[in-house]
Amino acid sequence: MSNIVAIVGRPNVGKSTLFNRLVQRRDAIVDAVSGVTRDRHYGKSNWNGKEFSVIDTGGYTVGSDDIFEEEIRKQVNLAIEEADIIVFVVDVEEGISPMDEEVAKLLRKVKKPIFMAVNKVDNSMRDANAVEFYNLGLGEYYTISSINGSGTGELLDAMVEEMTDIIEEETELPRFAVVGRPNAGKSSFINALIGEERNIVTDIAGTTRDTVDTKYNRFGFDFNLVDTAGIRKKSKVKEDLEFYSVMRAVKTIELCDVAILVLDATRGFEGQDENIFWLAEKNKKGIIILVNKWDLVEKETNTMRDFEAQIRREIAPFTDVPIIFISALTKQRIFKAIETAVEVYENRKKRITTSKLNDTMLEIIKHNPPPSNKGKFVKVKYCMQLPTPTPQFVFFSNLPQYVKDPYKRYVENKMREIFDFKGVPIVIYFRKK
Ligand code: GDP
Ligand code: GDP
Repeated sequence: MSNIVAIVGRPNVGKSTLFNRLVQRRDAIVDAVSGVTRDRHYGKSNWNGKEFSVIDTGGYTVGSDDIFEEEIRKQVNLAIEEADIIVFVVDVEEGISPMDEEVAKLLRKVKKPIFMAVNKVDNSMRDANAVEFYNLGLGEYYTISSINGSGTGELLDAMVEEMTDIIEEETELPRFAVVGRPNAGKSSFINALIGEERNIVTDIAGTTRDTVDTKYNRFGFDFNLVDTAGIRKKSKVKEDLEFYSVMRAVKTIELCDVAILVLDATRGFEGQDENIFWLAEKNKKGIIILVNKWDLVEKETNTMRDFEAQIRREIAPFTDVPIIFISALTKQRIFKAIETAVEVYENRKKRITTSKLNDTMLEIIKHNPPPSNKGKFVKVKYCMQLPTPTPQFVFFSNLPQYVKDPYKRYVENKMREIFDFKGVPIVIYFRKK
């Protein structure tokens, strides 16, 4: 199940301001620390315990004014097809514009939850002016001010009512998503993997009409491929839209256990690869990287080692990820790729018993404790794995606020060395006991 919120509307109504408020700009802070450039139009958030993704469709608008309207129409249509919830932003200062009417016309036919947000209602005097938006025929609206935040709580309350609890369904089979830039070789890899699709066992209809889990049995492994339907009937027009590929990636990644990121070896690791990698990491999915088209690369002694080192620099600090050099064309290491994806799936489901965790980690922490702060010492008393679907650990101590990121990373790396969480994002908390 996914909770994908798309923000639509014409330019300058305040979509990106609302986006920043919904994702609370926490992303930007994380970015500053890791120094990684990230997609500023996609974010994850939660409200009242419900987790959701937000996409600012306006962030992907490009082109000159004359194709502007056409572009917006396309984006709204894609949002209608792909998102779970749509927030339609209009501007109380400007009133209803012809483009608002166009968008409203598209939205009126839609069965999905739609929230009309009348923005720039910065004070109650503007409330009355919002009434005209009833004329768009979309029913109730929410008056908000994205700048000062008023009304956005009510909007969020109503939105989360329509959301599902993202409890990862315990499927008996690993769900893999093959993701990557257009032309990286995703379809070729899938074809190399599944042959002429003779091994399809069943098609299980997914949560929306076009996402389908297809069950395979290959090389002695049972697994589901997420969203092969989308890949099979890929349309070039859609592929060309950046917003579409982002939307697609968000969705398939949210529905999988392990994201298989396919790179084109002749092009290296680029910005779009980084965004997809980050999407998977942010969603706490397992990740493996396949460097495809390895047959095309001229190899010298250290070619593979250097290539791998370059990728690890790009994905830092989360570098504990399998990187496999394959050729979908010659089928080189195709089996290895699937075997590794299954290992990552197992790592992600791993449970470490509390006694084992305490026996190993408390000893390590005792030998190399967090640096003292203002003459005070942090003492870690106890640790445990949380009962979450993906590995998360809590360390109880006095003064948890003195434990900084470098030390958390040290603890994380030790845990990776000892317990093997290759390919899996793990989360470590320090809490007061
Ligand atoms: P977008 O093109 O729809 O993404 O719109 P922006 O978020 O870039 O906002 C367009 C302009 O409207 C900017 O100058 C914002 O500062 C302003 N704006 C956005 N939200 C509000 C609001 O709630 N009240 C007021 N007064 N201005 C706003
Ligand atoms: P997709 O858009 O990611 O699904 O990429 P495709 O699978 O359609 O592949 C794009 C192009 O790269 C096609 O012309 C493929 O034949 C070619 N290609 C894919 N994998 C390989 C490979 O391992 N080696 C070589 N030489 N070409 C490949």
